[in-house]
Amino acid sequence: MLKLFLPNEHVKSVFDIQPAILKQKGIKGIITDLDNTLVAWDVKDATPEVIQWFKLMKDNDIKVTIISNNKQERVKIFSEPLDTPFVFSARKPLSRAFKTVAKQMELKKEEVVVIGDQLLTDVLGGNFAGFYTILVVPIVQTDGKITKINRKIERRILNYMRRKGKISWEE
Ligand SMILES: [Mg+2]
Repeated sequence: MLKLFLPNEHVKSVFDIQPAILKQKGIKGIITDLDNTLVAWDVKDATPEVIQWFKLMKDNDIKVTIISNNKQERVKIFSEPLDTPFVFSARKPLSRAFKTVAKQMELKKEEVVVIGDQLLTDVLGGNFAGFYTILVVPIVQTDGKITKINRKIERRILNYMRRKGKISWEE
């Protein structure tokens, strides 16, 4: 069961994820979380770095969709200027949004990676739906209310897995 919380990969930042590496793996699509993955949860708009990263993916024919559990207004205001598809109120870790998006991308599960900063929503949901998952270090350590509770559970899972030697990264 705990295996479902284990990402396939762990990187410091979303910007470490580059087209060349994805292409080697046969990846043609990215499903990414928004809050604390692309920008801090309380930052409204995409930063120049984020805009550049989206452009880089587009130039390399890698499709990107933002899937967030956050409200319509937040996700829409952030995503529209990036000209990228998005799903709000996604109810991660439920599989539905992940599967719908892969279908809209017209890609197979094996061709899509799921990126996010939370084990309990992004990684669990991505794994459960059958995708390759990449965990990123949260951009800021502060969080919204619900996330705070998730973080406590997450801490326990991570500590357990570290003891068991399942993960090697440090934070
Ligand atoms: Mg997040």
